Amino acid sequence: MTYIAPAGTPISLRDLSSSARRAAHGADPAQELSAVLARIAATSRCWPVSSGRAALTLILQAMHAGRRDRDVVVVPAYTCFSVPASVARAGLRVQVCDVDPRTLGLDPAALERLDFGRVLAVLSANLYGLPNSLPELEEIARVQGVFMIDDAAQALGATIAGRPAGSFGDAGLFSFDKGKIISTIQGGAIVARDGEVAAELDRQMPTLSGPRFLESVALSAKLAAYAAFLRPGLYGFISRMPFLGLGRNDFEMRFPITRLGRFQSAMALTLVSRLRELNERRRINASRLATELAAIPGIRIPAVSSGAEPVFARYPICAPDRPRRDLLVRRLNEAGIGASRSYESAILDHAAIASILVDVQPCPGAREIAATLLTIPTHAYCPPDFGARVSEIIRKEAA
Ligand SMILES: *Cc1c(COP(=O)(O)O)cnc(C)c1O
Repeated sequence: MTYIAPAGTPISLRDLSSSARRAAHGADPAQELSAVLARIAATSRCWPVSSGRAALTLILQAMHAGRRDRDVVVVPAYTCFSVPASVARAGLRVQVCDVDPRTLGLDPAALERLDFGRVLAVLSANLYGLPNSLPELEEIARVQGVFMIDDAAQALGATIAGRPAGSFGDAGLFSFDKGKIISTIQGGAIVARDGEVAAELDRQMPTLSGPRFLESVALSAKLAAYAAFLRPGLYGFISRMPFLGLGRNDFEMRFPITRLGRFQSAMALTLVSRLRELNERRRINASRLATELAAIPGIRIPAVSSGAEPVFARYPICAPDRPRRDLLVRRLNEAGIGASRSYESAILDHAAIASILVDVQPCPGAREIAATLLTIPTHAYCPPDFGARVSEIIRKEAA
């Protein structure tokens, strides 16, 4: 049976070979990548680095350098576990803020109730490529006199109020990990306008080393394997190759913080040149799913923030309760569709993260999402009858 991977960027042999050629000859592709991403993010500056986690850690360190008296980062209570891992890696602590289960984004009312006394920065999430209420979050951070980080790890190319996700607040980040909008297996970038944070990053970045040679070779080999086996029919095979780390979701503080290597940079550049087309396919697949799923009782589709153009890294839906969510994920996977539960708990319920939390607030919204959310693939390998196949299974099991 063919299996539709949970997420993926189609990469051809031609993409691989042209990227390898670009990496081997001439100017550093990281510089060109930096210019292209800064243009997409409508910021003046961009620094490609080894991962989204590395980007977030470096941003936090730059912010902390100017405000040593503040050591708390406000993080959505439901987001990727790499976020608190980066906060911990920067030597800072996490204050969770509840999310609104209707939008999956930070709940502005809950944010305004927090004590900002020790807060250094507030972070968005833009999960699955749906922009949060970024203008509102930016305004709250400004009024409170704290930094805002626009985490667009999953939202490269999304916009709200005509501005790109990643460009709000004082600095933003993108990720090129597996399952993001574009993938070079690992990789990421910081974006920022000129200002206090950019000036500090300019001081820090020259001290950052490049990737180790063997690490680059290993990543390139993984990328080639990933590209080849992402096709439906072959994914079942790579999903059993543990070295690729597909589905990695751990709270892990040890990760490399380096510049992005030449081959990864060249690959990111190749994929970014196809960003519009890749995201357009995702939007079409998402709108097919929306049409099919809208009428199914018991299923709730998270609302898109007003004025937002999402990119749908995946398609999120909420089941009536945890047992039915788990059943739907199982049935969809049995039918060859890479549905997943996304993050298995709210940040505050992850045992390893508890030690870096301060002033834990009740977060019923985040817990509700952790219990009921499932996500459906949207990538270009989804066949045309995909929406109908998904909705048939969901209609049968959700009621
Ligand atoms: C993936 C992700 C990150 C971290 O990016 P990596 O490249 O995997 O380190 C940070 N924030 C969010 C919301 C993410 O989804």
